[in-house]
Amino acid sequence: MADSPAPPNTMSAEAAPSERTRVKRLPNRGAYDRQTIYRIVDASISCHIGYVVDGQPYVTPTAHWRRDEYVYWHGSSASRMLRAQGTARSVCFTVTLLDGLVLARSAFHHSMNYRSVMALGIPQLVDDPEEKMAALQAFVERLTPGRWREVRPPTEAELKATTVMRLRLDEASAKMRSGPSVEDDADLALPCWAGVVPLAVQAGPLQPDALLPPGTPTPAYLGAFKLG
Ligand SMILES: Cc1cc2nc3c(=O)[nH]c(=O)nc-3n(C[C@H](O)[C@H](O)[C@H](O)COP(=O)(O)OP(=O)(O)OC[C@H]3O[C@@H](n4cnc5c(N)ncnc54)[C@H](O)[C@@H]3O)c2cc1C
Repeated sequence: MADSPAPPNTMSAEAAPSERTRVKRLPNRGAYDRQTIYRIVDASISCHIGYVVDGQPYVTPTAHWRRDEYVYWHGSSASRMLRAQGTARSVCFTVTLLDGLVLARSAFHHSMNYRSVMALGIPQLVDDPEEKMAALQAFVERLTPGRWREVRPPTEAELKATTVMRLRLDEASAKMRSGPSVEDDADLALPCWAGVVPLAVQAGPLQPDALLPPGTPTPAYLGAFKLG
């Protein structure tokens, strides 16, 4: 994450990390192939985007979605994050899926099961109105397929008030941990519970809006709503 220009992308060869994205700490947990990276990016609805303004790093949590080799995010055209990113700055995009708490018999070996992605690059502003509309449609449809047809589409003013950015996932890594705790043999006899507490994001019961006209049907896509 820096203001300096990014080196040429090297991920076009499947599964090849760049020098910057090669996982050095526990490299067996790293992966670089597009399918693994896309699966993790698609399984999460929110990300963090790091960028530097005047030497100060900021890491902004926001929503994202993917179309082909690009990951997208959007926001108010007045957003500092989006204005800063519109000026060809490098960003660091991360996604984290927390899959479980790993409770070991020693404090030291406690861990977490996770799937995460880190991608580096210079994002592009999506300013072609048709492309912008298609990107926003993909955002809505990704979570609730069929909903774009039901809702009022953005007006010209709303489109203007919305900035859409995209980053090509060319220089990216995934890192994953799964399974039980690592234990020292000497700890195995300790009378202490060890194991994994699985964690997942789950949709709760629907809360229909109080002003829904009576008889408004519940869309089928809400029954299948799933993340993770
Ligand atoms: C939920 C969660 C909890 C974690 N808890 C801890 C913790 O408590 N302590 C701890 O030290 N680490 C933790 N990690 C791992 C952490 O993300 C880093 O991988 C680790 O700290 C090594 O960082 P590094 O900069 O030394 O990695 P390096 O291996 O030096 O990083 C080199 C490159 O590898 C890639 N990379 C590194 N980490 C990730 C990642 N997580 N996902 C995708 N690509 C990656 C990046 O491209 C990076 O530029 C956790 C990760 C997750 C997702």
